[in-house]
Amino acid sequence: MIRMENVQKWYGSFHVLKDINLEVRTGERIVICGPSGSGKSTLIRCINHLEHAQEGRIVVDRIELGASSRNLDAIRREVGMVFQQFNLFPHLTVLQNCMLAPMKVRGTSKSEAEATARKYLERVRIPEQADKYPAQLSGGQQQRVAIARALCMNPKIMLFDEPTSALDPEMVKEVLDTMVNLAEEGMTMICVTHEMGFARQVADRIIFMDRGEIVEEGTPDTFFTNPRHERTRNFLGQIL
Ligand code: ADP
Ligand code: MG
Repeated sequence: MIRMENVQKWYGSFHVLKDINLEVRTGERIVICGPSGSGKSTLIRCINHLEHAQEGRIVVDRIELGASSRNLDAIRREVGMVFQQFNLFPHLTVLQNCMLAPMKVRGTSKSEAEATARKYLERVRIPEQADKYPAQLSGGQQQRVAIARALCMNPKIMLFDEPTSALDPEMVKEVLDTMVNLAEEGMTMICVTHEMGFARQVADRIIFMDRGEIVEEGTPDTFFTNPRHERTRNFLGQIL
C-alpha cells in the first residue's frame, strides 16, 4: 500500500530524513516512535505530500507523484490524516466539518455526504454532537470528530500524528479506543505515538526513529523485550 525507497529530505542544509526505506502492506498497522525532532512528522507528511522529499521514491497504492498534480489529488484522496491539533474548521458545525471535503473534493451530493457523516459520527460515538461547533466540544470529542471527518473521505490509509499528545489525560483513552476499533476493522494505519500500550495492542510493527533515520523496527514483542540498539533502549528507558 505504501513504499518509500531511499527517501532523503533536507530543510535547507539540515538533513531531516536520511535514506528512509519503508514498506507498508494493506491492513498493516505501524507505530512510529522516537525523540522529538527525529523526523517522524516529516516522514508521514511526505506520504501524502504535505512535505516534499528531494530524493527517493514514494508510491502510495501504486500511485507515484511524478510531475502530475492529478496524481497528488489521487494520493490525497486515498490518505486520511489526523493531527495533534485537531484542525477542525471553527466556523462549521461538527456535521458540516465532516460533509465539506466529500462535497467539495469528491462531488458527493449533500444528502449522501450527510448520511456518511452521521454514519461515522456514530462510529466514533458522538452522533449527538453533530450540530455543535468545535469550541463547544472537549478535546477528546474534537479529535474523534477529526477522525470521523477523515473517514468520510473513505481513505485506504490513515495517518495519525501524535493524535493524543494535546489531550488532557482523561481523554486519551476515548481517542485510542476509536483508533483500536479502526485497526480492528482492518484499516491500514501509520500512527506516530508514544502510547506504548496502544502500540503493544495494535501494532504489527513498531519503528523507532532517531536523527532522521529508521534505527530499528520490529514486532511489539521483540521491540519491547529485546531492542537491538542502544539508542532504542535509551529511548524506551525514558518513556516506559
Ligand atoms: P518529530 O515529528 O519527530 O518531532 P519533525 O519531523 O517535526 O520531528 O522535525 C524534524 C526536524 O526538522 C526538527 O529538527 C525540526 O525542527 C525540523 N523542521 C521541521 N519542520 C521544519 C521546517 N518547515 N523548516 C525547517 N526545519 C524544520
Ligand atoms: Mg512530530
